[in-house]
Amino acid sequence: MLIKDMNWFQVEDYLKHDDRVIMPMGSTEQHAYLSLCTDFILSSRIAEEAGTRMNIPVYPGLPFGMASYFTGFPGTVNIRPDTYGALITDILDSLHESGFRRIFLVNGHGGNSPVQTFIGNWLNQHEDARVVIHNWWASPEVMKRVRAISSNASHASWMENFPWNRIPGISMPQEEKPGINPAKLGQLPASAVRAYIGDGNYGGEYQRPDEEMMDIWSAGVEETCHLLENVWVAPMHN
Ligand SMILES: [Zn+2]
Repeated sequence: MLIKDMNWFQVEDYLKHDDRVIMPMGSTEQHAYLSLCTDFILSSRIAEEAGTRMNIPVYPGLPFGMASYFTGFPGTVNIRPDTYGALITDILDSLHESGFRRIFLVNGHGGNSPVQTFIGNWLNQHEDARVVIHNWWASPEVMKRVRAISSNASHASWMENFPWNRIPGISMPQEEKPGINPAKLGQLPASAVRAYIGDGNYGGEYQRPDEEMMDIWSAGVEETCHLLENVWVAPMHN
């Protein structure tokens, strides 16, 4: 169930028997030879496949996220933490006002993780609500399959290369790029990040066979469905 295909009467009806809702969180930032919108495309698609299977409404994803370290690459959009936190807080307020109480955020971008602090403060003021941030690519079943193929897998490498975020007509380099050093990367301003990481891949091959990627993808959808059913902590009753 996609919110874009529903009217408000249908949301009101849904809320009579369920209070779960899904929203994807992405980023528009360099992903080497892959789409700038990789994190948005992948989190949206995981959310849509899981939400459709589970009959839970899925909001349109947030295309932008926090990406300060990639602003040296053309096409990247960086939302500052205060802006992003305010945006998420307003969205949570609206979902709560509608009547949703179990809010499941499918996150596609590691740089968005600091938003957890804003969510924690929001939860303090909405004790009847539950909010989950699910980093779908880092979940145990997905990671297990990635590591079984290669431990050299990171941002913009093969592990993010699915049929839905490749650019038609762009061929991938054939070599395996050595992993970058995160401790070094974290010290650098965006201009130096670009010089350090070159094409933008953090390390690994650029592409793997689709059958391997589809196995990883299915695990990601399965795991998301499982969490949507089982992750929730019941509200406290005094
Ligand atoms: Zn990514």
